[in-house]
Amino acid sequence: MTPQMERLEEHLGRLKLYRVRERLSGLLEEAGKQEFSYSDFLDRILEEEVQAKQEKNISLRTVMARFPYQKSLEMFDFKFQPSVDPKQIRELCTCRYIENGENVVILGPPGVGKTHLAVAISLKAIGQGYRTLFTTAAGLITILAKAYHENRLEERLKTYTVPRLLIVDEIGYLPIDRQGANLFFQLVSRRYERGSMILTSNQRFGNWGEIFGDQVLATAILDRVLHHSVTINIKGESYRLKEKRKSGLLKPEKGEEEVS
Ligand code: ADP
Ligand code: MG
Repeated sequence: MTPQMERLEEHLGRLKLYRVRERLSGLLEEAGKQEFSYSDFLDRILEEEVQAKQEKNISLRTVMARFPYQKSLEMFDFKFQPSVDPKQIRELCTCRYIENGENVVILGPPGVGKTHLAVAISLKAIGQGYRTLFTTAAGLITILAKAYHENRLEERLKTYTVPRLLIVDEIGYLPIDRQGANLFFQLVSRRYERGSMILTSNQRFGNWGEIFGDQVLATAILDRVLHHSVTINIKGESYRLKEKRKSGLLKPEKGEEEVS
């Protein structure tokens, strides 16, 4: 390596332009071959670095969001779930609801793609630079209750109010006690008209009183959540069961063709 190349690499490292450092000889060769002008070359290397930084940022934010799995919208089979309107989902992928401080509620029985859609929509938000956090209702309430007992509730609530988008998955899978319902209400109140949430539940709104063990509190929660919101009601079969049936673990449903 020439002393100049060594110096260039050192400088690029100090400036944290790691992608350009990594590809320096290739980029120089390309510039020579294509007879780039000075401005073309500068344009080329800066674009390379900015893109690398953006990719890194997105993958970091994705890790920080703590998704249970990563599934994209492209992986969602809309034909299997005709009750989901692709246009409505694509509109959500523009993130306008975040700018408008609206919530998204996804309802439906187990296995119909609630979590998948919540994750897919959130990944688009991360792609647009929104700080995002995923949690389950049970996980959230456990953490808030612990913080409350340790006199750190304020601090903990911030964890869930700072992200522009908060996903609370699986409301209604486990019963919530009175204190849990109260803590959840506090969180919803703080985010109200400030930060968007995506909520998923296997229970229709009429049953939320039972989930939260208190009709008044459930009404207050729903009042705030639904004031500016979009509801997606998925009515259909479980994708998991379909896959099991396909692999022969379950008998096909009546009228359904047997898959060999
Ligand atoms: P739930 O509604 O219980 O949250 P999930 O969203 O976790 O269900 O879906 C269960 C599994 O089935 C996941 O692996 C998910 O990716 C897959 N799945 C569900 N619906 C679809 C679909 N329409 N197309 C592709 N995969 C799907
Ligand atoms: Mg789920």
